[in-house]
Amino acid sequence: MLLFWLKVCYIQPMKICLSICVCLISVFAFSQQLEHVDFKHAKAELRFDVDSSKVFGKVEYDFKVLKSVDSLYLDAINMNFEEVFLNDKKAVIKNDNKKLIVYSDFESGKEYYLRFKYEAQPKKALYFVGWKNEAPNQIWTQGQGKYTSKWLPSLDDTNDKMEFDLSILFNEDYKVIANGKLINKEKENENIIWHFDMKQPMSSYLVAFVIGKYDKIEEVSNSGVPLEMYYYPEDSLKAEPTYRYTKQMFDFFETEIGIPYPWQNYKQIPVHDFLYAGMENTSATIFSDGFVVDSTAFVDRNYVNVNAHELAHQWFGDYVTAKSGEHHWLQEGFATFYALLAEKEVFGENYYYWKLYEYAQELIDQNRSETSTSLLNPKASSTTFYKRGAWALHILREQVGDKAFKQAVEVYLKAHAFGLVKTEDFISEAEKASNQDLTKFKTIWLEQIEFPVNEALESLMQSAFVQEYEMVDCELLTSKCEYYLKAPISDQAKRKVISQIPDKITTEVFEGSLMARQAISQYLEEIPLSLKRNYESLINDDSYLTIESALYHLWINFPEDRVSYLNQTSEIIGFNYKNVRQLWLTLALSTPSYQLEKQADFLSELISYSDAKYGFEVRLQSFNYLNSLNIFNEEVLTNLVDASTHYNWQFKKYAKNMLEELSKNPDYQKIILRLQNSN
Ligand SMILES: [Zn+2]
Repeated sequence: MLLFWLKVCYIQPMKICLSICVCLISVFAFSQQLEHVDFKHAKAELRFDVDSSKVFGKVEYDFKVLKSVDSLYLDAINMNFEEVFLNDKKAVIKNDNKKLIVYSDFESGKEYYLRFKYEAQPKKALYFVGWKNEAPNQIWTQGQGKYTSKWLPSLDDTNDKMEFDLSILFNEDYKVIANGKLINKEKENENIIWHFDMKQPMSSYLVAFVIGKYDKIEEVSNSGVPLEMYYYPEDSLKAEPTYRYTKQMFDFFETEIGIPYPWQNYKQIPVHDFLYAGMENTSATIFSDGFVVDSTAFVDRNYVNVNAHELAHQWFGDYVTAKSGEHHWLQEGFATFYALLAEKEVFGENYYYWKLYEYAQELIDQNRSETSTSLLNPKASSTTFYKRGAWALHILREQVGDKAFKQAVEVYLKAHAFGLVKTEDFISEAEKASNQDLTKFKTIWLEQIEFPVNEALESLMQSAFVQEYEMVDCELLTSKCEYYLKAPISDQAKRKVISQIPDKITTEVFEGSLMARQAISQYLEEIPLSLKRNYESLINDDSYLTIESALYHLWINFPEDRVSYLNQTSEIIGFNYKNVRQLWLTLALSTPSYQLEKQADFLSELISYSDAKYGFEVRLQSFNYLNSLNIFNEEVLTNLVDASTHYNWQFKKYAKNMLEELSKNPDYQKIILRLQNSN
């Protein structure tokens, strides 16, 4: 999964920079049952009632008893069961609302067959989105950290891999996408039953499906694997920029990893209000529709990294799965590292070193705040699992060389195909392939609590790009720094110089790249008259971030031209969370003379973005701007109360805090209490 630091930064007047981190590590449960029973195959037929958010299922399990035992169980949270049969005989069962326990004299070496019907009304792990408001109508799952046993009786233990074949019945107007290959579509009245088939086993946290309205792009990898890239029908123009480089990265991984992609096909599906950036469900990655971008947004914010990360997990996580929490880096560290390799392939070596540099900064911050842990600590932070994990692999590859590294990965994957892995399984292959003793590497990079800063810097400094970035430090260079404002240096180094001496910017600096101009838009806050014309040209750049900052700063600096700036940007929406549009509405409402007859429309549009039909990123932006304008009418408060019950906990917390703040005013308090009670 990519827990991602989703940074939603608001430019002034709010001066709020909110960083949302979903810090959630899958909990590895251990069970004794594994020694006694080997579940081989699950076949589930599912249907739904969207009004009550219920799932109804018919499930069949095949399993083999390894050691005689008198009972076995499936994890099943708050479910009702009926018609439970063991080998076609009515089974003796107990349902304690956490597990379905089946009693029998299970004999060693024998194969059994369990079938039942169930219903559940899950609050997590299966989400019914948009059926009670105007948001897109979807149903989708999130198993990691949320437990598939909330909607499908299964085994939460990641160690118990089995083949899951889903059949899903739903209204014919919708598409259904699930793990594996679609082998048949059966019509039943207004509905279609979609039959999916898996050929290989997986852990239950990777079982997934999506129901919604989608079109798709189809490509085929060099090796012949079908790649299906889904998008909302209204987003056809965004499909190409969103999925840009998908096939290239897929082909790159197959060559780089040396093991053919292990599943029948690869599907990627964006969903509304997803909990994370993306989730690597076997052969069916689900990701946040916030990453669906047009070609302008692509420059600032794209899906490439999440795309590569979840794809890498199809090998590292899905094909081989960490045996327990202390080996979690074998999933996240590898997915993060291989995503970097794929991005290096697409964006070049400087980009690779830049990301490593950024990761190192975060890890150094952890050292400073004394929150670093060993990479093998099951309670390590996501920064440690993901970024230190990637760093460890970067250093290992440097130390043993590309050839030995690749060989180690290949042998390691082959040896544990569709199985479980421990850190030692990988390290021992790396030792064999390189003929090196890796004890010191293990101590420093895996076990040591502190991130090894000196070793990391030594590696980074091999890159001329990093050297240049480190060099352009205006405190050290003093007068010479101005030279670098105009010198041909990397975008990142240029950005650093601009941020340090924005008051030294001249007209020439505006002739730089799109990224240099973006830095000007963000760091040059007091615009000298001599640069006014140059600065005004920024609102025509192909970057929504640049447009957003430039519009705001121009509006502040030159009140006499506000109408002109608003007129020039009145058609721009920006990112999916409507960054430019929502700023524009706020500024238009703060310019009283501007289109007087339309002021009421502007306000109602800004308020509408706080409604439940929009994604939480859009709503958050709207609440922030409404807060800055101090507009909390009945509609806004209703939307805020609704937000305070959202399943995304950060958004819910944000709304709760705002309600608490507002409740200090007795007038608001009365309305809020009434709305909460009527909810
Ligand atoms: Zn991940």
